[in-house]
Amino acid sequence: MRRLTGLLLAMAMMAFAAVAAPSTLPPLVLQGAESSLQLSPHITYLHDLGGRMDLAAVRAEGGQARFQPLPQGSATFGFQDGAYWFRTRITNRQHPDTRWLLVQQYALSDHIDVYTRHPDGRVNHDVGGDTQPFSNRAINYRHPNFWVDLPRGETVDIFVRVESQSSMQVPLALFTPKAFAELARDSQLGIGLYYGILMALFFSNLVLWLWLRDNSHAWYLFHISAFGLVLFCLNGLAFEYLWPNLTWMADKAVPLTICLAQIGMQQFARNFLELDRRWPAGDRVGLAMIVFFALLFVASLVLPYRAVTPLASQAVFFSVLWIIVEAVVVLRRGYAPAKLFLLAWAMLLLGTAMFTAVAFGVMPKNFVTEYGVQLGSALEMLLLSIALAYRYASLRNRNEQLVRDANEHLEHNVALRTAELSHALEQLGEANGRLRESSQRDALTGVYNRRHFRESFERILHDARHDARPVSLLMADLDHFKRVNDTHGHLVGDDCLRWVARCLDETLAEYNAVVARFGGEEFVAVLPGSDMSAAMRAGESLRQRISARPLRIGDRDIRLTVSIGVHAINTSEDSRADDAIRYADEALYAAKGQGRDCVRPALVAT
Ligand code: GH3
Ligand code: MG
Ligand code: MG
Repeated sequence: MRRLTGLLLAMAMMAFAAVAAPSTLPPLVLQGAESSLQLSPHITYLHDLGGRMDLAAVRAEGGQARFQPLPQGSATFGFQDGAYWFRTRITNRQHPDTRWLLVQQYALSDHIDVYTRHPDGRVNHDVGGDTQPFSNRAINYRHPNFWVDLPRGETVDIFVRVESQSSMQVPLALFTPKAFAELARDSQLGIGLYYGILMALFFSNLVLWLWLRDNSHAWYLFHISAFGLVLFCLNGLAFEYLWPNLTWMADKAVPLTICLAQIGMQQFARNFLELDRRWPAGDRVGLAMIVFFALLFVASLVLPYRAVTPLASQAVFFSVLWIIVEAVVVLRRGYAPAKLFLLAWAMLLLGTAMFTAVAFGVMPKNFVTEYGVQLGSALEMLLLSIALAYRYASLRNRNEQLVRDANEHLEHNVALRTAELSHALEQLGEANGRLRESSQRDALTGVYNRRHFRESFERILHDARHDARPVSLLMADLDHFKRVNDTHGHLVGDDCLRWVARCLDETLAEYNAVVARFGGEEFVAVLPGSDMSAAMRAGESLRQRISARPLRIGDRDIRLTVSIGVHAINTSEDSRADDAIRYADEALYAAKGQGRDCVRPALVAT
């Protein structure tokens, strides 16, 4: 019954509030079972634009006349000038806990004043925010927190004044010490998991970078380090763990790390997407963004937080959006690794968009929106790490393909060149053979020349000596050949010489003779394996063949005869080629002397 009356009363009050806008809320009543309370539904606020009002002034403002309920029940106002006052009234009816912890669940507020006013007029004043050293906090925790005494049976007024360069977000909550310990433990676990993922990605990619020396990995490391640092600042952990006494750093760190993260992000995208090759115009825009964030980084050092951070936060949105544009363009130009990259960035964009929307008061604060950046970025970094691996694999495949193609091409070319070379060598060999052959031949008659005869003769002589086999030499000279020339002319004489050479070749072929023109109209033949009688027979058949019938050239008949000297070499003795030729020549001379057209043996004493 009492509850129902309370409810009806509350509804009536709300209806009244809706009509008479400036309003007050009924006190929050602690019955005894509560352990944690979000205060937003029980809070009214007042915007002190000048920021000069004190507690007395606020209380004097026609009581609570100018205090209003929170817009959409959420204490999120975006970047605002002046100070905000929040007021709540709490009655501890019968709760055993009288000491509670008031927590401002947003880490970046600069100045926080908490006034607890008891019914007897006693006022407790606590100061907090990141302009105070971290150790001043009631409990060392990333969010500012304050002890509040709520004695049983008392109604206490709590006024919270917040003034900050950062976004005006004041999600106040009340905890019993036990509930706070449990909350801190849970949120520490969540944060630990998040940074654990980041660290794991960081170190695995660090190892990959050291191993592969691919620049993309270096920029990825840069990006995730800076990004991790941004969230470390936003969560209030950087202030707690990195610079608990540098209160000026608590403010500066946010825009500084945002700028670093964006530089890393843009550079990573340029590198990963190979923009300089695939989309030069987009690459230049990316570079311009890097220059912009570098300038903003420098500006953050000198300009106040309020001048830089809203700009940086908005720029982040465009920066991520631009990376998506780059990825889409490169993907449409057929670069497959851009697919995973795009997905990763969509995750981050979503998370960042939600976070920015909360910071500007566009979206209410809840688990997903508040941790949107963490969720989105964890997914993003995980996907990027996979994308890097995918990109590396596709690069390696492309390289292997290139090497394979090059090898095939090389092998093909080598085979081609080898074939050409062996063909050329063959031709060269043939030409060489022809050259050698022609250098051994007499140009007019086609039989061997004197030089080659000399070499062959020496070799045959050597072999014959070794095998103790006979060798004979024939020396033939045309009779009165000068007359033939004189009578029929030199050209006819040449024809005669050619014919005689053919006769020698053909007649002596069966003796394996080497036939050569010795000079002028004189021929020589060496007959391996022929002794004197065989050589005499050979000489005789040659003589007969030449003199048998006149040679017919044109309409003339030319009668030719030949004188032949024969020498059989005694191979068992130390016989020299020159001597053998001289003996054969002497035999020829004898034949000439004995009337020509005859064969005469050499008269050598053996
Ligand atoms: P003999 O019976 O004493 O050998 O008398 P011959 O006239 O044959 O001897 P000689 O040595 O006096 O003359 C050789 C001639 O051979 C002289 C030269 O005109 C001729 N002769 C030498 N070489 C060639 C040649 O290549 N072509 C022609 N047509 N004649 C040649
Ligand atoms: Mg002659
Ligand atoms: Mg002669």
